[in-house]
Amino acid sequence: MRTVTALLLLLWSLPLLAQQVEISGMRVWSAPDHIRLVFDTSGQLSHDIFLLKKPQRLVLDLNSASLKNVLPKLEQNRLIKRLRVAERGKNNLRVVLDLKEAVRPKSFVLKPNDKYGHRLVLDLFQNKKRAANHRSHRPVKTVGDKQHREIVVAIDAGHGGEDPGAKGHSGTYEKDVVLAIARKLAVLVNKEPGMRAVLTRDGDYFLRLRKRMDKARNARADLFISIHADAFSDARVRGASVYTLSRSGATSEAAAFLAKKENSSDMIGGVKLEDKDDVLVSVLLDLSQNATLQASSEAAGFLLKQLKKVGKTHKPRVQQARFVVLKSPDVPSVLVETAFISNRQEERRLKSGKHQQKVANALMRGIRNYFTYLPPPGTLLAAKAVRRHTINPGETLSSIAVRYQVSLNRLKHANRLKGSKIRVGQVLDIPVI
Ligand SMILES: [Zn+2]
Repeated sequence: MRTVTALLLLLWSLPLLAQQVEISGMRVWSAPDHIRLVFDTSGQLSHDIFLLKKPQRLVLDLNSASLKNVLPKLEQNRLIKRLRVAERGKNNLRVVLDLKEAVRPKSFVLKPNDKYGHRLVLDLFQNKKRAANHRSHRPVKTVGDKQHREIVVAIDAGHGGEDPGAKGHSGTYEKDVVLAIARKLAVLVNKEPGMRAVLTRDGDYFLRLRKRMDKARNARADLFISIHADAFSDARVRGASVYTLSRSGATSEAAAFLAKKENSSDMIGGVKLEDKDDVLVSVLLDLSQNATLQASSEAAGFLLKQLKKVGKTHKPRVQQARFVVLKSPDVPSVLVETAFISNRQEERRLKSGKHQQKVANALMRGIRNYFTYLPPPGTLLAAKAVRRHTINPGETLSSIAVRYQVSLNRLKHANRLKGSKIRVGQVLDIPVI
């Protein structure tokens, strides 16, 4: 090693551990901008990382460590050519990664949780410029006659990578079934005229909750749907549920948003916040958040209605909770618990491609109904939108015209009415534009 320029990137200093730490396994997760290697260890591990050039290599020295099992074969990936492990001295191990290109490594240890024991995590980030080229981000484009923009639906498959989510009795992971449903839903959304899907994750890797929200906001999503599968200690519990953000969750988020406004160029509903004073910002936020919460609950209602048609629902109404992932102040957001993976029958259904498709179809119908009901301005649907109104006792044509802000003549014309006689229960088309 004397002949090469070794760069000491990180020195993990822990009190000397007399005990040998055993490495019992390794997993590799591929995310769009990095590859994550996770080593299962029998205890806290002290380690050093070096990068070596010509050829590009990364050396991971594991101190007071030994191999318990042979590490699994490294799967094909875009950054690592080969992985070698050798003993170094009496008590230490050296892992060498032959790299396909230069990387920026980051490492940290994780304490045990209910699913895994001690772990050492090594993230290899790709060169930024290259990663940017790989990004599939498309700006919001206009469709058809170029006057209308696309409706963007952000579809978020919960969990991923080291976070498997809930686990069924026969070993099904939530992260896998929700990704399958998310992908099927994305195909349907992309088939819809004037609509485009953005998947927050399209693979088996971990994504922080804030990152999921950011992806939706960056894509200027009109709706964010996070897809999950529930679990409960009582295996009899079953059914789908749909959540929106609770008002208390929204209030605390507004405060946090305001607090970090200083050094951000955040926008709310197309308005830049950095040059506005705090009072104005909080008013804008409030307005936006109220409208977003309302739209979220409308969307949730449409989705729940359709989910009821494909299976049991756990709760008959839309639920509210303080889920972080739903906290975007300007993107209507819902979280769908598709079923209970802890229920044997529902686990079986969640695994079946046919049932996944049924769930995706139901969500698509809900999405379509929601956007037909509340078409985002500037979209094809908004231009085509016709709302319907069922006449209640005491209403007149003029009062309905005032309510929907259309002229009496247009209302009559849209419904081919000659006079102004209407009856209770009659359904009218309400022209929107
Ligand atoms: Zn979940």
